[in-house]
Amino acid sequence: MRFLISGGAGFLGSHLIEYLRDHEIVVVDDFSTAKYFELYSNVKLIKEKIENFNTNEKFDYVIHLAARPSPEDYTKYPVETMLSNSLGTYRTLEIARKSDAIYMYTSSSEVYGNAEIIPTPEDYWGKVNPIGIRSCYDESKRFSEALIMSYYREYGLDVRIQRPFNVYGPRLREDGSYGRVVSRFIYQALKGEDITIYGDGKQTRAFLYVEDWVEATLKMLFTKGLKGEVINIGSDKETRIIDLANMIITLTGSKSKIRYLPPRPDDPPRRAADISKAKRLLNWEPKISLEEGLKKTIEWFKGVIK
Ligand code: UDP
Repeated sequence: MRFLISGGAGFLGSHLIEYLRDHEIVVVDDFSTAKYFELYSNVKLIKEKIENFNTNEKFDYVIHLAARPSPEDYTKYPVETMLSNSLGTYRTLEIARKSDAIYMYTSSSEVYGNAEIIPTPEDYWGKVNPIGIRSCYDESKRFSEALIMSYYREYGLDVRIQRPFNVYGPRLREDGSYGRVVSRFIYQALKGEDITIYGDGKQTRAFLYVEDWVEATLKMLFTKGLKGEVINIGSDKETRIIDLANMIITLTGSKSKIRYLPPRPDDPPRRAADISKAKRLLNWEPKISLEEGLKKTIEWFKGVIK
């Protein structure tokens, strides 16, 4: 099979590609966030922004992963964030349409905004500030979903949308300034720096280990009968950020102290996935506990942090 994977050199893409070694893959990535990418012999790499990319080549699968998913990163680059999730979605959809490919999009739990129903099911419409600081990400992901469903309705394209929730694991960028909570806390703990908590730390997230994400993604790609489906790929187990900080301090044996900072604007107070649809359609649920996943992630971080 031939795959086109936008953002294939990034955190999620680099893990996914490991499980697609029997296929021919073209990766389009601008390396804006990618850092730990191994170029296997079945992969051709094109360094370009997906919104500028065009080709007449044909593919069996088109997977659009390219995005800046870190809030601290995307709020610095809001225009670029919106372009990969609008023009980039359009370009990849057109390539899929001309190839009659299966199209898969990694949307985000961010489409739910400050959800009022936790764990959140796919049929919840979301509560999103359209002009807030996070809107460049939330609204462009929502636009992408609407555009993808339009291709499904107008052209009958085989589209599949997943909404990942806080995926973590090895190969998240280790540099603390990048900002995802798991990688930042591990970095700070291993360096003996203060662990920075925004707000009171009572906000929650439900974390998914990257190998569980890969398993769900492969099932979404290769299961028949998923045309037009939108599926949460996440965990239903909520963890408070303060509890995550304490777990990481314990697991690393760190002497780091906790430092409280002002809350981030529009930071969703709670987040967890209702995964009944993933269980039903994919026969999938996460297997790796937070403690187990953190241990594996910490081991990897120890190897890359100087
Ligand atoms: N967070 C924190 N300290 C940090 C980074 C993040 O307290 O140094 C919190 C953040 O406020 C949010 C949660 O951790 O409530 C998850 O943040 P992340 O940037 O990983 O992504 P999000 O889930 O908000 O998209």
